[in-house]
Parts: sequence; structure tokens; C-alpha cells
Amino acid sequence: MKISKKIIIAIDGHSSCGKSTLAKDLAKKLEYTFVDSGAMYRAVTLHAIRNNFIQNGRVDEEKLEKAISEIEIQFESINGIQHIFLNNKDITDEIRLPNVSNNVSIVAKLKHVRKKLVQQQRKMGCYGGIIMDGRDIGTVVFPNAELKLFVTASTEVRTERRFKELRANGIEITREEVKNNLIERDHIDSTREISPLMQAKDAIILDNSELTRLQQLELAIDLVNKRTKDFN
Ligand code: C5P
Repeated sequence: MKISKKIIIAIDGHSSCGKSTLAKDLAKKLEYTFVDSGAMYRAVTLHAIRNNFIQNGRVDEEKLEKAISEIEIQFESINGIQHIFLNNKDITDEIRLPNVSNNVSIVAKLKHVRKKLVQQQRKMGCYGGIIMDGRDIGTVVFPNAELKLFVTASTEVRTERRFKELRANGIEITREEVKNNLIERDHIDSTREISPLMQAKDAIILDNSELTRLQQLELAIDLVNKRTKDFN
């Protein structure tokens, strides 16, 4: 029996465009490992908030840098759902709270934070068979990934999806607040000095504004099949 080589799939794109949903669906279908790199930046942000390293929208870089070695992030699948742990404590739900969303992009700008997380992300992908989603996966973390997707959707569609998701999880938030957060994060993420969000030259654009979850998955599977043929 011919065993297909397990490739690296990098999925990048703007906030709340459905990257993680696609990455999760693909990972399940292909039996690959899924890594939500945004959750890692959120974990560091949560640690910074808990330790009062963020005050009035400013990060105390020195304090966070000193504390960075204390931060241990792990993923674990529980009943088929990926959970994230910060120093052995499950923070899966907490990292989605508005407080973290509102501060994550200013933490993700920092050089030492990116250095630590990119190192960990590369280790996770060293054997292939991984699907990682984020902002710099195809450009910085895995520039040699065999398949790179750049997912996009209109701001209205993204706002609506995230709004419904947060409300379904019992989080009190308005559409306006969700939209402002997406726009603000996209701006900081795209204009930062280190590893800004951008489409890798060899990435394929996937606009899912008008696609259902299943249509998006089928499209991506087609692309994976085409790429894996080239590598087997
Ligand atoms: O993917 P998610 O929206 O949860 O990511 C949260 C934030 O983490 C992003 O807005 C961005 O600031 C940061 N991030 C990043 N690089 C990645 C993934 C996420 O800078 N690879």
C-alpha cells in the first residue's frame, strides 16, 4: 500500500475569517495534527494580564520578557476538542474573552514573544502532518510548507460569524465591539515591524465569504490532493 507523505499545511489570514475552523476540519479529515498558533499568542497575553504586565493598553515589555521563560504552553485533545494549557491549567475558554482579544495584538508585536512561540511552533511541525493556522505561518514559521492557504472573507461576514460564536458562548458583546476589535487587530497585525500578516507569494487565496463550511473544506481537500500528488 502506498502511504502518502504527510505534508505541512500553513493557513494564514485576517482575524475571524474561519482559518481555525478550516484547519480543524482538514486535520480531522486527513488525520493531521492541528495547531492554532493564535491560541498561543492569546495564552501569553493572558499570562501578561494576570500578572498586571498590561496597563492602559501598554505592555511592560521588560517584565514580560523576564517572565517569558515561566510560560509553558501545551495542547491536548480532550474528547476530540483541542484544549490549551498554560502552566498545566486549562485556559481554552478564557483566552477567547474580550479582555484577551483586546490586548493580544500588542503582545504579539513583541520580538521576544514571537521568537519563543515560533521556536515552539517549528518543533511541532518537524515531522510534517501538521496544519497550523495564524498570521505568519506561510511566511515565517514554515516558509517551505508544501501547501499555503490565505483565507479571507468580508469584514461584515467575519463580524457576524465571530459575534454569533461569542454570543453562543454566553459572552456579552455588541456587533460594533466585535467589528472594532477585528479591524483594530488586523491593522496592528498587518502593520507591525516583525512578521506582519501578509499573503505568502506562493499562497493560494481562499475567499469563503459565500461558502459554507463544507464547501470550504471540499475546496481545501482538492488543493491538498493536488499538492500531495506532487510530493508522492
Ligand atoms: O487567530 P487568533 O485571532 O486567535 O489570533 C489572535 C492574535 O494573535 C492575532 O490577532 C495576532 O495578533 C496574533 N497572532 C500572530 N501570529 C500568529 C497567530 C496569531 O501574531 N501566527
